[in-house]
Amino acid sequence: MLWHIRFHGRGGEGVKLACRIVTRAGFIAGMTVQDSPLYGAERRGAPVVAFARIADEPILERGYIECPDAVVVMDASLLRHADAGVLSGIDAQTVVLVNSPGQPQEVARSFGIVGHVVTLDVSSLALDVLGKHVLSAPVAGFVARVCRLVPRETLATAVRTELVAAGIPPAAVARNLALAERAFAAAPSVGLPVRRENRCASSTAAESPFVVPHLPPRVAAPTIGAPATSALRTLEGWRVYRPVIERNRCTRCLICFALCPEGAIALDGQNYPVVDYAHCKGCLVCATECPPGAIDQVREDAA
Ligand code: SF4
Ligand code: SF4
Repeated sequence: MLWHIRFHGRGGEGVKLACRIVTRAGFIAGMTVQDSPLYGAERRGAPVVAFARIADEPILERGYIECPDAVVVMDASLLRHADAGVLSGIDAQTVVLVNSPGQPQEVARSFGIVGHVVTLDVSSLALDVLGKHVLSAPVAGFVARVCRLVPRETLATAVRTELVAAGIPPAAVARNLALAERAFAAAPSVGLPVRRENRCASSTAAESPFVVPHLPPRVAAPTIGAPATSALRTLEGWRVYRPVIERNRCTRCLICFALCPEGAIALDGQNYPVVDYAHCKGCLVCATECPPGAIDQVREDAA
């Protein structure tokens, strides 16, 4: 049996690492695994896709997973962008894991998802334990449990192995371990569909195990793949947090205006900075660099 799991999220959320931890767990459990990410733009907030293949047999295919057995939606805002292809290739048996506080039926209805939807508010867990929106460890826990891939102890070994290899300090590794275990405990055990045949057998693997198809940029970076710069493309869908400038704390030093990588901060008639939310991608460079701390970070779904 060969299972295909496709991860969708945004740069900075830990998509690559979540996929890596899941495949590491499968490897520790004695399975054959393969993991690979695909991202067109090295930018925080840009859409990222990663692929995990996990099998009890040799894996002879490569490349994009077109017909996943499970789709992991680390950032539900991507579901609003059809070009991101989050739901491409799914069928009624596909397990769709969504990082959301919503009920599964609600989420399935809102986005027209035909698969078996499972939800968990991974973002809130991460903010609670880590104080930041880094989702690799808890998403790995969510996936391991829902897909019934490995037991909790194996997941913990995989989290520790990958985070130590990534140079994460011991205290942070411990917090991520606790977080992964919380997500594992909070998620339901569903299992992956058992299919008699590969639904996409006519694609890459059937032709040759070594042919990787060329994919157009819109697949990996749908919001910036077109021939236009961010001045012409809105970036508001990229944000998890929005910067909110508090004028009464602002000293008009203009550091945020100078440092914003998107040119999304303008000045009003009194030289106070004003954020253009259509083009702000939520990198929070402005909030980090503001000397008096006059820029609040507000979660987008609470703004
Ligand atoms: S306004 Fe702030 S958060 Fe938005 S893109 Fe510019 S620096 Fe990043
Ligand atoms: S960096 Fe902070 S204090 Fe300086 S102009 Fe921007 S908001 Fe105001």
